[in-house]
Amino acid sequence: MNEKQLTCHDLLHLLSDYVEGDLPEDLCKQLEEHIRSCDNCQIVYNTFRKTIELVHETSSEHIELPEPIRSRLFKALQIPDSGHDITP
Ligand SMILES: [Zn+2]
Repeated sequence: MNEKQLTCHDLLHLLSDYVEGDLPEDLCKQLEEHIRSCDNCQIVYNTFRKTIELVHETSSEHIELPEPIRSRLFKALQIPDSGHDITP
């Protein structure tokens, strides 16, 4: 097995697509595996999903994750929201 492991940073970028069902199957699996093995991302995922469900309940439009929530998620994981790739 030589699969690239997702980082918490990757996960945050993929999470909205995942929750919206826009993510390819193999990426979904990688993301789910990361969530299973990462306490931080479990919390983030649960919070994120609840937020999305709320947004969908109150609006039928497709809505981007509100900036304050996005920032909070990055903060919760102590990841700088710079948009830069983190080089290993
Ligand atoms: Zn993680």
